[in-house]
Amino acid sequence: MSRIQGRADVVIVGGGVIGSAAAWRLAERGRSVVLLEQFDPGHRHGASHGSSRIYRQAYDGEFYTGLAARALPLWRALEDTTDTPVLTLTGAVDHGLPAALAAKANALAALGIPHELLDPVEAGRRWPGIRFDTRVLHHPDAGRLHADRSVQALNRAAADAGADIRHGVAVHGIGSTATGVEVVTDGKTIPAAHVVVAAGAWTRSLIADAQLDAVPELPRLRTTQEQPAHFLPLTADDWPSFVHHRGAGLAGEGIYGLGSDDGIKIGEHGTGPVVDPETRDYTPDSAGVARLVDYAEAWLPGVDLDSVTADTCLYTTTPDSNFVVDRVGDVTVAAGFSGHGFKFAPVIGELVADLADGTTRTFEAFRFGARQAVAAR
Ligand SMILES: Cc1cc2nc3c(=O)[nH]c(=O)nc-3n(C[C@H](O)[C@H](O)[C@H](O)COP(=O)(O)OP(=O)(O)OC[C@H]3O[C@@H](n4cnc5c(N)ncnc54)[C@H](O)[C@@H]3O)c2cc1C
Repeated sequence: MSRIQGRADVVIVGGGVIGSAAAWRLAERGRSVVLLEQFDPGHRHGASHGSSRIYRQAYDGEFYTGLAARALPLWRALEDTTDTPVLTLTGAVDHGLPAALAAKANALAALGIPHELLDPVEAGRRWPGIRFDTRVLHHPDAGRLHADRSVQALNRAAADAGADIRHGVAVHGIGSTATGVEVVTDGKTIPAAHVVVAAGAWTRSLIADAQLDAVPELPRLRTTQEQPAHFLPLTADDWPSFVHHRGAGLAGEGIYGLGSDDGIKIGEHGTGPVVDPETRDYTPDSAGVARLVDYAEAWLPGVDLDSVTADTCLYTTTPDSNFVVDRVGDVTVAAGFSGHGFKFAPVIGELVADLADGTTRTFEAFRFGARQAVAAR
């Protein structure tokens, strides 16, 4: 790994999946990149740890569907570069609310992405671990990402391309200088032409304290402690990733799930308590875990209910669930991934690299300040 001395082209604050992907894409372009992450590799304090994240292309509109499709070859490129498998295509199924299925089927159809609608009997025959009572949307180019392996591979690919990846280094301040920006760590100031803030739940406080000529106008970022649960599967079938949308048979906001190295993971989307990342308790809420066990009892005949374990993880959510990826002056912010950002990381890394290079403007939905929201489910 190279140790960059003096002024870097880009300093990235945050070594979660987004900062790591940005480091990879920038270093591949020959930029001198320093990535600063406050915790050790593999830490569990942010949003990017664990054994699984859903990779799916079915969204309610063409915007995120198209971005997800663009991410697939980049994930494959990462696997090739690092010789590390990160993405397993198992297919994905959506069931429940018919309007949710129709919107997703329309977006897939508009972009020519293979998909099919199945009746519940056929779906139950194919995926016996799940109970279905509505039509089911299946698309095969979906599955699961191994979260920890993905972040490790992104860091390795970035380092192999020349990035200087430093763990255990907290950034305390960001400020403008006559020729760019500087980032302040314990006892050190690192000058750069550009800084990328990909600090997850810590983004708002870092930006609020920054001494910048041009200040990013962030939307409200709400940090919640979420608590997915894992159950051991009763059979060895490979599970699809799935989203059960609120509908006739299901109250609440719906449930997502997928197979993983730790068993079948399920979770509610964004229902956890608001927390401060510095003071949260890491304790799963027992009422929330009980709701997931009740759900599994009703809808997942293929899991062992007694094997439940729960973990915590952070969502940083914008009011419209669209991401914030934009540049002002010498600062790009990539944050607010609203509980669905992992799958897009290499595409966001490309966008961040384009913004840092000054070769593009961001998407309308990702802008600082007032913006036009698009469907983000
Ligand atoms: C339970 C759960 C399930 C999810 N499921 C899915 C899914 O199925 N599919 C999907 O696509 N997405 C999913 N997501 C969302 C996805 O995981 C996140 O959108 C993504 O991980 C966000 O990454 P990030 O890099 O922005 O944030 P983080 O991973 O939190 O990274 C930010 C990093 O910045 C570091 N940092 C902060 N401040 C400083 C500082 N001052 N100095 C140095 N370093 C600093 C932090 O330590 C942290 O490592 C899920 C999230 C959760 C919590």
